Amino acid sequence: MRIDIATLFPEMCERVLSESIIGRARQRGYIELACHQIRDYTTNRQKQVDDYPYGGGPGMVMQAQPIYDCCVDVVRQVEEAGHARPHVVFMTAAGTPLTEEKCKQLAQKDSLLLVCGHYEGIDERVIEALADEEISIGDYVLTGGELAALVVADSVCRLCPGVLSSPEGYEEESHYSGLLEYPQYSRPEEWNGRRVPEILLSGHHANIAKWRHEQALERTRTRRPDLYEKYEEKSMAKIDK
Ligand code: SAM
Repeated sequence: MRIDIATLFPEMCERVLSESIIGRARQRGYIELACHQIRDYTTNRQKQVDDYPYGGGPGMVMQAQPIYDCCVDVVRQVEEAGHARPHVVFMTAAGTPLTEEKCKQLAQKDSLLLVCGHYEGIDERVIEALADEEISIGDYVLTGGELAALVVADSVCRLCPGVLSSPEGYEEESHYSGLLEYPQYSRPEEWNGRRVPEILLSGHHANIAKWRHEQALERTRTRRPDLYEKYEEKSMAKIDK
């Protein structure tokens, strides 16, 4: 998997993606990530990337030309490096909400290009010209697309082979199966008067798995009835088959 990010703040993205699990996975060659400065593709002396919105209104809008030229150049670089044409995703507050299902779909792609907006957003015409899809990371507005692109890159990369030490690393986690994860505990057995549930100390793997599944069901039912309903529907559909 290769992910490229087109942004006005490549250093910010690069810094985050060099740390911890993702940083190690890059060093070991399981994933490739590259960040690109949109401003390098301006054609004016001031390297200005934004202008006033047609129709008036507050703030500035990112112009189509530098984003277009940046993306075309990144696509060329990616293809020359032997990858498929990247799946182009614009980060927008009006995009399809990001879910674990969407992350699984994106993790199947050979390469992704994530485009970050800023200011009041991006000239719609370049989105129409280039986007395979628009993704939102939630129903709120960020000051820029960088945090959103980092969320997508992180959540997709961890599903790629080799990034986590074993697939169980994510298969049991919240949202993968449609449920929230069961509660987790570590040493000591008692902390501040609170004991680890006895079942987890029993060494009986089948009973532990059963307890964890029940906990996951109960958590999902009480905290996220919307997810619980979907999970139940899916389970019923499987039984009917
Ligand atoms: N005027 C835009 C609107 O009302 O939808 C918001 C623009 S926002 C201040 C600037 C940039 O941040 C956007 O172009 C987008 O790239 C990014 N952004 C903001 N919220 C986002 C979200 N929830 N998901 C993904 N990207 C977001």
